[in-house]
Amino acid sequence: MSILSKNANDALCLCGSGQNYESCCLAFHTRKTYPETAEQLMRSRYTAYALHLKNYLLETWDISTRPGEFEFDNGLTWKSLIIGRCKKGRLKDQQGWVSFTASYQVGLDRATLQEKSYFIRDGQGHWCYVDGEFNV
Ligand SMILES: [Zn+2]
Repeated sequence: MSILSKNANDALCLCGSGQNYESCCLAFHTRKTYPETAEQLMRSRYTAYALHLKNYLLETWDISTRPGEFEFDNGLTWKSLIIGRCKKGRLKDQQGWVSFTASYQVGLDRATLQEKSYFIRDGQGHWCYVDGEFNV
C-alpha cells in the first residue's frame, strides 16, 4: 500500500460508504479481513479499480472468468459508485447479485456504467466476482 499516504487512509472511502478508507475497503484490500457480503466485495472492487489495485481485483475474480492479465485505462478516473438493488449476497448466501451505477470521467467527458454483477463464494468461502450484465 505504498502508494497511499496516511492522509489517503483518513479520507472518505471512494466507494461512497461515508466511512474513512481505513475503516472501510482498506482492510479488504490488505486482506486483513474479507467482505461478508457481496455488496461489500462490490464496493471494495470498485475502490480497487479507482486505486489500480490489480492483484486485489484478480484475486477476487472467480477462476472461471478471471482474465490472465488486464490493464487499467490511465485516462479514466472513477468518480462515484451508487449501489442499487441487491439480491441475496448476504452472510448466509452462496451467491448474490448487486446492481450499481458507477460514474467515470475520460478527459472532459463524464459517463456512467450500469451493471448487475454476479458473485459467488470461492473455495475458501470468500466472495468473488463472476461476471456482470450491462445496462440493467
Ligand atoms: Zn469502501
